Amino acid sequence: MGKVLVIGAGGVGSVAVHKMAMNADIFSEIVLASRTVSKCDAIAASVKQRTGVTVPTHAIDADDVAATTALINEVKPDLVVNLALPYQDLSIMDACLNAGVHYMDTANYEPKDVAKFEYHWQWDYQDKFKNAGLMALLGSGFDPGVTSVFAMWLKKHKLKTIRLLDILDCNGGDHGQAFATNFNPEINIREVTAPARHWENGEFVETPAMGVKQTFDFEQVGEKTMYMMYHEELESLARFVPEMERARFWMTFGEEYIKHLTVLQNVGMTRIDPVMYEGREIIPLQFLKAVLPEPSSLGETTKGKTNIGDIATGEALNGSGEKTFYIKNICDHEKAYEETGNQAVSYTTGVPAMIGAAMILTGKWKGEGVFNMEQFDPDPFMEMLNEHGLPWTVEELDGPLPF
Ligand code: NDP
Repeated sequence: MGKVLVIGAGGVGSVAVHKMAMNADIFSEIVLASRTVSKCDAIAASVKQRTGVTVPTHAIDADDVAATTALINEVKPDLVVNLALPYQDLSIMDACLNAGVHYMDTANYEPKDVAKFEYHWQWDYQDKFKNAGLMALLGSGFDPGVTSVFAMWLKKHKLKTIRLLDILDCNGGDHGQAFATNFNPEINIREVTAPARHWENGEFVETPAMGVKQTFDFEQVGEKTMYMMYHEELESLARFVPEMERARFWMTFGEEYIKHLTVLQNVGMTRIDPVMYEGREIIPLQFLKAVLPEPSSLGETTKGKTNIGDIATGEALNGSGEKTFYIKNICDHEKAYEETGNQAVSYTTGVPAMIGAAMILTGKWKGEGVFNMEQFDPDPFMEMLNEHGLPWTVEELDGPLPF
């Protein structure tokens, strides 16, 4: 049905390409490009062995707009799926505009020198994509991504309005390492060390990083401490679900993770400004990334489950007063590894990336301009989650979270 060019050969790129190959009726041709071509080749070899599908590979520095435009012109895809890092979002969007091809990603743009992830840089491309008759779909991972689709599904099928929303992201997996991050360490640590922000009464309220914590009993994982954080879907949800009185995002972290992160922060290893070392500039956080385990190497040893979902409270569609629903997916690290050779954090992002791409290639989601996940019909996306490895459940709760 369509040809796709995937850029980025990390854990998420690996899962997405495997899942695309398993859906050859939608993804008739898949091409994979990334900075280090040997990583593309390793993924292509695994895809060939598991599915029989051949994935041609290319080396590309996606910061280079001219080179990326040339690659897109050579490959001639219907869609470019950006699974590199948030830093490359704008250069790949520019290359897509140059080559006249649709665009999709899983994380919003972040400038390298400020740990600030906000949508306005990409929303500013609205007219360019609209005038070119092209579509850009932003944030089709799990969070952001599925968490917004979950909220919109509740708004379509259960609730007339959403008054309170809590997004709960729990990784109950154990990788056996003293300290490692389960997706790109640089991006992960920038996210976690940034001040927390939540939406309340029409504005974002900022609190110190990791300053608010609560415990919650996650199904199939158990009781965990979760911390309030800023996460990018809060911005798009606040825009597209404007009636929300409050929206918060929570993520679980173990004591060991917090202990290591605190020390790394205290000694300056999480800094993102350049420091001089032996006559050359280095960025401490980038150096730290180089010595930490590659997230894609954790799959083999990770055991346990992820449990990510939304708790939403609002006026029921059927007129029965205010109701609270909990909608979530639970994903098993070992099963994810067995299927694609990657752990569940990459899996829960790569599968929705495949589904977002499928929505565009099948025309189930279409438009001209820059779009967030909240702007389309959630039903076909939710159906594909059930069919492609991320089944979800919805239950009614007695009321909103007590805190
Ligand atoms: P990895 O670090 O494992 O992989 C990133 C890949 O991008 C690597 O192959 C890297 O190449 C490549 N890359 C980096 N810079 C460039 C460049 N300039 N040109 C071409 N390729 C480049 O990250 P993940 O797979 O864990 O994450 C991928 C994306 O998914 C990130 O944007 C992340 O923020 C996002 N994400 C989204 C989630 C969600 O739920 N929405 C959850 C988790 C991740 P090299 O190998 O040479 O370093």
